[in-house]
Amino acid sequence: MAVISRMVEQGHQQVCHVWDAATGLRAIIAVHSNALGPGVGGVRIRDYAYEADALTDVLRLSEAMSYKAACAGLPCGGAKAVVMAPFPADRRAGMHALARAVDSLGGRYVATEDMGMGEADIAMLNEVTRHAVGRSIADGGSGDPSPYTADGVIAGMRAALRAAGDDSNFAGLRVAVQGCGSVGFAVIERLIAAGAEVLASDISQQACDRAARAGATIVGNDTILDQAVDVLAPCGVGAILDERTIGKLKCRVVAGAANNQLATDADGTRLAERGIVYAPDFVINAGGLINVSDEIEPSGYDAQRVHERVAAIETTLDTIFAEAAQTGNTSAMVALAQARARVAAG
Ligand code: NAD
Repeated sequence: MAVISRMVEQGHQQVCHVWDAATGLRAIIAVHSNALGPGVGGVRIRDYAYEADALTDVLRLSEAMSYKAACAGLPCGGAKAVVMAPFPADRRAGMHALARAVDSLGGRYVATEDMGMGEADIAMLNEVTRHAVGRSIADGGSGDPSPYTADGVIAGMRAALRAAGDDSNFAGLRVAVQGCGSVGFAVIERLIAAGAEVLASDISQQACDRAARAGATIVGNDTILDQAVDVLAPCGVGAILDERTIGKLKCRVVAGAANNQLATDADGTRLAERGIVYAPDFVINAGGLINVSDEIEPSGYDAQRVHERVAAIETTLDTIFAEAAQTGNTSAMVALAQARARVAAG
């Protein structure tokens, strides 16, 4: 593994391999950039077939965190940790070992939740280090990020619709939501309250039933992308927009919460060529990061500041769509260039 040449290529500042003999914890922490502040990013616990896969994942994810924070105007850099499953059987001892590694970075990395981590795990990290956020509201933390992510998605959707020439503010629009989990369901509730007609799909029957009770019409997972709608909101998994699926879309706007919606960079161009306005995922889904990172503000967590920063996703996207229209570049390219410029300036 040519780790250093990959760090240079992707602009990483530091990569830290963690092995704790007592518990068997194996992890990698990547700090992409501290140019704008402490690198806030989730700990992902995942079964990686090879250590090289874990490294690829953590380098990619930590870089993406830098750009998400930069576009959201946060005083944060980008970092991420991956833990190679299985996590030590003694969960507390494993979390403490991880926390010691996080602590040794002196605040360059601030850990939070991602796949396989919950609020109880953050509480265990906090027994050893203060550089972990995402505590429950009862513990004085920021709580569940999903409602904030959903608020940001709705704000971003409004900007995307405006860029597509629609100022209707959802009344009478048709929106297809793929994935009715924590964020998708909250998006559905908000859309229905605003007067939109919602079509939804999920691989979980339970999630479909809950969405139906909220007023959505359930359609099959194999047909959700083919629906004639104003907006497609991917809120399930990533990489759903590729050469095959983009050719079949019947929407004016793609705006949703899922990470890494474009299978490849070329898919941003494919959407633009079809005249579909795409809200770059790492801009529109920043609400959760905005919420959790507020715990590290010197004045402490402030719900009003979070609300204002989430609402600003709309104006950020207005700027991105305007520049895309002016330059002929895709919205994804414009967002990435803006983020890189902010990180470089920091
Ligand atoms: P979640 O696990 O609560 O919900 C995801 C839902 O998608 C589940 O109900 C699952 O059954 C469904 N799903 C999975 N594969 C599907 C498929 N092929 N077709 C249809 N449905 C499918 O997750 P979440 O927290 O709601 O996050 C949703 C997406 O948004 C993820 O990509 C996540 O990375 C991203 N995201 C979430 C947040 C947040 O605050 N939770 C923040 C930023 C980005």
